[in-house]
Amino acid sequence: MPLTVLRHPLAAHLLTHLRDQTTKPAVFRTLCHEITLLLALEATRDLPTSEKAVATPLEPFRGQVLARPLAIVPILRAGLGMVEPLLSLFPDVSVGCIGLERDHATAIARSYYCKLPPLEGRRVLVIDPMLATGGSAAQALDVVRAAGGNDVALLCIVAAPEGVACVGQRHPDVPVFTAALDRELDARKYILPGLGDFGDRLYGT
Ligand code: URA
Repeated sequence: MPLTVLRHPLAAHLLTHLRDQTTKPAVFRTLCHEITLLLALEATRDLPTSEKAVATPLEPFRGQVLARPLAIVPILRAGLGMVEPLLSLFPDVSVGCIGLERDHATAIARSYYCKLPPLEGRRVLVIDPMLATGGSAAQALDVVRAAGGNDVALLCIVAAPEGVACVGQRHPDVPVFTAALDRELDARKYILPGLGDFGDRLYGT
């Protein structure tokens, strides 16, 4: 499974502040927004384009425009923090939602909501900031592919090796883009060093 880890000093800088436990939700949201912009550019580097003729004020020009629409599918709730930056880059994107809630005792995800736009013919970006065990991401990818998504990528901000392995096993052809590949999971399935509970830090809960 193709794994891309952002290698950019700005990504490292933003991520360090995101991890910092003294970072308050308002700044956390801004940092999440900025890191997602970097991830989105990386994950859409190979989007197909088509030719378009325009006229500059000086002469005719044959340029490129995006050929196919995109869809994004945040996994609720933490994935919502990554929606706005993707909308700012791709205003015409369709947004689906998959609600998966992690049972804190078992770390197993339970589905409580699913609403998807048409996915055929689109690049579908499934977004979930923390790829921990990979269970939720793999489950969301099952749903997206069953709904017709056949050009799918997974975007996360911090990944654990366990999560990468799980997604790689269940969806070997889905590329994963992450800002950081961390060391391991702890006994409660939190990512180490990680940044704690992303949703709690995003929304101050
Ligand atoms: N989800 C989080 O928010 N943090 C982790 O470390 C793992 C899963």
